[in-house]
Amino acid sequence: MFAYGSAMRHSAIQKQMQPIDRVTLYRTLESLLDKGIIHKAFQENNEIYYAICGKSCNTNTHKHDHAHFKCTKCNIVSCLELDEAIKIALPSYEINKVSIHMEGMCDLCQ
Ligand SMILES: [Zn+2]
Ligand SMILES: [Zn+2]
Ligand SMILES: [Zn+2]
Repeated sequence: MFAYGSAMRHSAIQKQMQPIDRVTLYRTLESLLDKGIIHKAFQENNEIYYAICGKSCNTNTHKHDHAHFKCTKCNIVSCLELDEAIKIALPSYEINKVSIHMEGMCDLCQ
């Protein structure tokens, strides 16, 4: 359906999977999320962007130490592996998840 590294809007997936009803699509996405095949990249204007998970994800764990970049020109969302793991420390808080969402122009649009 789509390759690792790029995310797709819920509505775009819906378009590709026609004819399929909303409930079936919702269930399909939920089961893909459960199995560690896709993850939610981010949400914007009530639209959820889904991206393919890397090899580190499976049924038990979803591990995403990567950032998401949205190109404001072509609207493509990419998963970007960072050279260094994101390390943010807040005294007296326990952080379980850090998500980084960047916007700008991708290499193709520049
Ligand atoms: Zn995942
Ligand atoms: Zn672009
Ligand atoms: Zn991602």
